[in-house]
Amino acid sequence: MKKIVICLLLAAIPSIAFSNDVVVLSCGATVDVKAKRLTGAKTYAIENGRISRVGRLDDTGVTVNDARVIDLSDYTCLPGLIDMHVHLTMQSSPRSYIENFTLNPADYAFRATKYAKLTLDAGFTTVRNLGDDGLVTRSLRDAIQQGYVEGPRIFTAGKSLATTGGHADPSNGYRHDLMGDPHARHGVVNGVDEARKAVRQRYKDGADLIKITATGGVLSTAKSGQNPQFMDDELQAIIQTANDYGFKVAAHAHGAEGMKRAIRAGVSSIEHGTLMDDETRQLMKKYGTYLVPTILAGEFVAKKAEIDGYFPEIVRPKAAAIGPQLKTNFAKAVKAGVKIAFGTDSGVSYHGDNAQEFALMVEQGMSEIEAVRTATINAADLLGETDQLGSLDVGKFADIIAVKGNPLSDISVLENVHFVMKGGAVYKQD
Ligand SMILES: [Zn+2]
Repeated sequence: MKKIVICLLLAAIPSIAFSNDVVVLSCGATVDVKAKRLTGAKTYAIENGRISRVGRLDDTGVTVNDARVIDLSDYTCLPGLIDMHVHLTMQSSPRSYIENFTLNPADYAFRATKYAKLTLDAGFTTVRNLGDDGLVTRSLRDAIQQGYVEGPRIFTAGKSLATTGGHADPSNGYRHDLMGDPHARHGVVNGVDEARKAVRQRYKDGADLIKITATGGVLSTAKSGQNPQFMDDELQAIIQTANDYGFKVAAHAHGAEGMKRAIRAGVSSIEHGTLMDDETRQLMKKYGTYLVPTILAGEFVAKKAEIDGYFPEIVRPKAAAIGPQLKTNFAKAVKAGVKIAFGTDSGVSYHGDNAQEFALMVEQGMSEIEAVRTATINAADLLGETDQLGSLDVGKFADIIAVKGNPLSDISVLENVHFVMKGGAVYKQD
């Protein structure tokens, strides 16, 4: 039986004997995302999946009997990372477009289990899934919750909402007789009534939030990557209806006009935000709208655009142009003081590479601690879950990761996560 002596900060309690179902994490250092600094050694007691005590190692304090002690004294602990923009059911390849016609939902579901595990092992204990076909990610979310599959906590938007021919119209680029006329159920809306109906359908489908495509996009087989694709009345109908059901709304947007309309209508986040102008940045600050930058996706598609045949030719110039613009846009948003929440669009890039986004953010002028905050406390705020997620405080979910070294002096150490705990259960321990 393992016994160690630990002083918890709750020094008023002289001695505590923990039972076997208590896990004690002994961290060499911790990134305190609220105080914005690295602290010394800290100890976390975990009970019923949540952090029950936080303390400091000391040899004069509490005797921990019978607790399962995990020694992370050579590591730095952080809150589990949160990626606000992933697509767990897919991963980019030259076959992606043809697979729309050859794969069944079950094929996507099996792949998603692998991508979910890669994401969790990379230290991402929570993700927002911003768009899939059918209800695969909802089922994956539930399967993970019920313990059938290992993966992160998922907040899923279900199928994204688009307008006819817009980014996320599922039959874009199809042969005419296969195009059909997708409608609210498939996430294609035109006009106020269909907008309301589509949001209500997402509620019925068990989604956690709404995703809209406010402008054209890079990877859809359509000409414009940036034109506005919803009218003001449609946006208002979506957001008012979403409010009735407690949904936040995330808006994919590359062009400034579509962003402005979406921000004024009340979306919670702009995804990508590539061609943001000064007026848009000021609007985001005024409305408290988050930017989810997805720089990694831009880097990835710009590289792949160099390969003949990787993308359809209508996609290729859009993909080539977007990478550098996402980077410079991010730098400007940081300077302007726009709120930022971490997001990669993984599924465009490879699942499990999510943490590569951090180095890109720091390269563009964000401090290391602010970069970590985007993926912890800021992301929790955007989710509306700061009472459960985003920092290592008593009462919150025990979502804790550990890395070797100090991410506040070398952000790239986050690309090698040695330990992952989610809800008090250990999923990875090197
Ligand atoms: Zn996306």
